[in-house]
Amino acid sequence: MHANVAQVLFQTVSDITGFARGEFAFTYLGCPVFYTRRRKDCYDDLVKKVKARLHSWKGKLLSFGGKATLITGVLQSMPVHLLSVLDPPDNILEHLHKIFARLFWITKEEGSEEYWDRPYWMPTSSDKFIVSSAWQILRHSANPNPKFKHMWIKGLPFKISFFLWILWRHKLSTDDLWKRQGYIHVSRCWCCQHPRKETFDHIFLTTPTASKVWKIFFGDAGINVPLVQVKQVIRAWWNTKYYPKLRPLFQAAPTIITWELRKKRNTSRNVGTISTNRVIHKVNKTLHYLARFRYPWLSHILVMWPDMIKLFEGYKPILITKKVTWQASYEGWYKCNTYGASKGNPGPSSLGFCGRNDAGDLVYARAVDLGVTTNIVAEAKAIVQGLEYCIEHDLHPLILETNSLVLKKVIEGEWDPH
Ligand SMILES: [Zn+2]
Repeated sequence: MHANVAQVLFQTVSDITGFARGEFAFTYLGCPVFYTRRRKDCYDDLVKKVKARLHSWKGKLLSFGGKATLITGVLQSMPVHLLSVLDPPDNILEHLHKIFARLFWITKEEGSEEYWDRPYWMPTSSDKFIVSSAWQILRHSANPNPKFKHMWIKGLPFKISFFLWILWRHKLSTDDLWKRQGYIHVSRCWCCQHPRKETFDHIFLTTPTASKVWKIFFGDAGINVPLVQVKQVIRAWWNTKYYPKLRPLFQAAPTIITWELRKKRNTSRNVGTISTNRVIHKVNKTLHYLARFRYPWLSHILVMWPDMIKLFEGYKPILITKKVTWQASYEGWYKCNTYGASKGNPGPSSLGFCGRNDAGDLVYARAVDLGVTTNIVAEAKAIVQGLEYCIEHDLHPLILETNSLVLKKVIEGEWDPH
C-alpha cells in the first residue's frame, strides 16, 4: 500500500485481511512491483535469475543445439513472462541479449572468472553478426581449422554456411545424437516405407532422396565416392581438382545438398513431404544463384547443373587487344609524348619525352636519370619536364600524351589524388 494512504483506511484493510504493511518495491510471482519510474535495479532480480540458471548449466559442455534450446526454451521464457507484464528499459534487454550471446558462442570451458565476461562473437557497429566477424574468431581460435575455409563461401547465404559448420561438428539434433547423450527414445526415420533408425548418415546419405541427389550431382561432376560417411563425401567435393571457375561451386555443392536434405527431413517430420525432384531443383537453383553472384559478367549461365559444368569447362577468359598507334597532330599543332619508368617500383627510374610537329618530325627528345623512385613519380616528372620544355621553346598549341592512365585521370579531374 502506498505510503500516502490514510492510516484509517490502512487499519481497515489490515483488520479485514490480516495483512501487514510492507515496503515497495517487492517481488510478486517473480515480478518486481513498484510505483516509481522504471529503475535499472528493479530488474536486478531478473538478470540475477537468468545468470543463476546459466550458471547451473555451466559445468556441462553443451552442444550448439543444446545451447540454442536452452536459450530459446528456458532462458528467454523467463524474461518473456516478466516482460509481458512490465516494460523494462532497453538497456536491460540489451544486457540479457549479451548474456545469451556469450553463452552461445563459447566453444570450450574457460576459467570460471572469465567465463561469462568474455565476448566471443559480438555484433559489428551496424549491430549485425556478420560472417567475417565470426571468421575472425575462427581464424584466431586456438586450433585453427583449415576446413573452415571450405565452409565459408562468398556469395552463399550465411545460414547455409553456418549450417554446415554445425553439421561438421556433429551438433545437429538427430536421434542418434540424442541417444549418444543418454536420451533413450524410439527412433524412426521419416523417409522410408519401412522406417529405419534415424541416424546422421541415414539422413544425409542413405535415404532414397539423399542417395539419388548425391548421385545426380556427383555424376555430372565426375566424382565417385561411396555413400558411407558424410564427411568423406563432403571432402570428396572439396578435394576434386577442377576448372578454376567451378571451384566455388564444388566447394558449395555439399553444403547446399546437405542443407536441402536437412530441410526435407524437418519438413517431413513436421508438416508434409518434399519430393526428391524438388530437392534437386532447389540445389540447382542455389548453385545457379551462387554462379551468377560470383560471375556477374556471364549473362548466359544456365540453371541446370550439367549445363553449368559444361559452360565453365569450356570457359575461356576473353582478352581484348587493341592496337594503339601514334598519330600525328592536327595542322599547326605540336605533340609531346612523355614516358616514365621504374625498375622495381620503387627502383632505379628514368623519364623521357619527345616533341614532334604536325608532320611527325622530331623536334626535341630528352631522357633523364631520376635515381631511385616510383613509377608514378617518374611518369609525373616526365609530364612536368615535357611541358616545361614545350612552353620554353614555343612549341604550342600542344597536345600532351602520357602512357599513365592514372595521371591522365588525375589531370582531367576524374580522380582526386588526395
Ligand atoms: Zn529412412
